[in-house]
Amino acid sequence: MPILPADHAFDVSVPVLVIGAGACGLCAALTAKEGGAEVMVLERDETPTGSSTLSTCLIPAATTRLQRDAGIEDTPERLAADLIAKAKNQSDPEMARWVAEASGPTVDWLMDSVGLPLMLITEFKYPGQSEYRLHSSPNRTGSELMAGLLEAAGRAGIDIATSAHVTGLYGDRATGRVSGARITRPDGRTEDIGCGALILACNGYGGNPEMVREFVPEMADALYFGHAGNKGDAVKWGLDLGAAVKDMASYQGHGTVTHPHGTLLFYGVMTEGGFLVNLAGRRFSNEARGYSEQAVDVIAQSGHVAWAIYDEGAHRIGVKFKDYRDGMEVGAMKSAETIEGVAGITGLPLDALRKTFSDVEALHDAHGEDEWGRDFTACDVLEPPYYAVRVTGALFHTQGGLVVDRHARVLREDGSALPNLFAGGGAARGLSGPSRWGYLSGNGLLTATTLGRLAGRAAAELVKEKADAEA
Ligand SMILES: Cc1cc2nc3c(=O)[nH]c(=O)nc-3n(C[C@H](O)[C@H](O)[C@H](O)COP(=O)(O)OP(=O)(O)OC[C@H]3O[C@@H](n4cnc5c(N)ncnc54)[C@H](O)[C@@H]3O)c2cc1C
Repeated sequence: MPILPADHAFDVSVPVLVIGAGACGLCAALTAKEGGAEVMVLERDETPTGSSTLSTCLIPAATTRLQRDAGIEDTPERLAADLIAKAKNQSDPEMARWVAEASGPTVDWLMDSVGLPLMLITEFKYPGQSEYRLHSSPNRTGSELMAGLLEAAGRAGIDIATSAHVTGLYGDRATGRVSGARITRPDGRTEDIGCGALILACNGYGGNPEMVREFVPEMADALYFGHAGNKGDAVKWGLDLGAAVKDMASYQGHGTVTHPHGTLLFYGVMTEGGFLVNLAGRRFSNEARGYSEQAVDVIAQSGHVAWAIYDEGAHRIGVKFKDYRDGMEVGAMKSAETIEGVAGITGLPLDALRKTFSDVEALHDAHGEDEWGRDFTACDVLEPPYYAVRVTGALFHTQGGLVVDRHARVLREDGSALPNLFAGGGAARGLSGPSRWGYLSGNGLLTATTLGRLAGRAAAELVKEKADAEA
């Protein structure tokens, strides 16, 4: 991933160049185009998908039109406070505030300008979200999000070059200014494209085993559930150009990927009163802290698996998620009318399972926290039929990355901005603090969409200022 000499003569040049056609890159490109700049997106895959397609499309945002219509009084300050609290005050609080501020207008824009039929989720709250503020598509899939963004890009006449793997940037290490990108085609041919501003939207390093081993060693041997093409290129280029990176050990994990089926089990089954047991039939963690930190706890159990136990109420919410229905189709969900039945379908030891059920039931009336810090008093006691799903932990995406400011400009260690380099989504440092436990549900698409918007707007302004100055 070299930095090539900046003074290259390019046959083709565009004002704004975006690397990566996921949610961040497409939000950035659409916004740059709205801002009056010509823009081109470079995508390594034949068809743009990215982790954005794999996602559940849960996008947190405060003060959206949908929230107002539902009578929900939320504020950017409350969202920022939740983000900061989940990251135990170890993220950048200013960034949490300006991202939260931009989140509501971004979701309104996704609906009104992009045309996405988003809806507000009011059936459950994920851990740490103090208000109903997760927005999603009708079937709660990233493929619906991506289809809407790609359609809007088509309407706007944005060029998306696919099978265009960016294998080098043209730039000046002394100034940090970039002048273009080299792409390598599947047959090995290379092409060079110049630019006035460059937006890195090529996500993090979850798909790069060496980088995961270096920065996130606790997940080095875990299943990677994100997009394989996210190899950490943004971080590598940024570092070569003098940029600062932060929170490189931070990531989104997930503790309920069905095993061996490999579908995503909607985590609301836990917040609705469900719990996880190991193969000995015993609980081992506070399932209500969040799904990200749960990944290592599940992986630490015998066989690296656990059973998620929940009931019909949670199941009814789950079926609204396509991922959940996919799990049902491949037989990941099992159900039984009695605890004995659950032991039968899972092979878990009956006595231990009976004790776990009765301990959890007692915790509902106990008015306090259990030994792992979970308080069950707000949930209903599980009612038959019960559901049981075997799960494992996985790495979804990394949250460390390039440090950016409120215009998504990439910063150096001393806080100064590189002249014409922007980053968003998984390419940028997120809001989850230094480790696995700071990820508040939706942090991935929150920064993919809002930083994409901010980067697109600032890049368009930058190239316009330059064009005006030269006119
Ligand atoms: C299973 C799963 C479920 C998730 N659910 C949610 C959710 O509900 N809510 C949420 O907020 N987050 C969720 N996330 C996280 C979320 O998907 C990501 O944070 C988000 O999609 C990142 O968007 P992005 O645009 O930065 O990256 P991506 O969508 O991954 O796009 C990056 C693109 O860059 C391309 N690329 C990479 N390198 C190059 C290169 N050198 N040259 C050209 N192209 C390149 C890739 O091919 C890719 O298409 C989930 C993640 C997973 C894995």
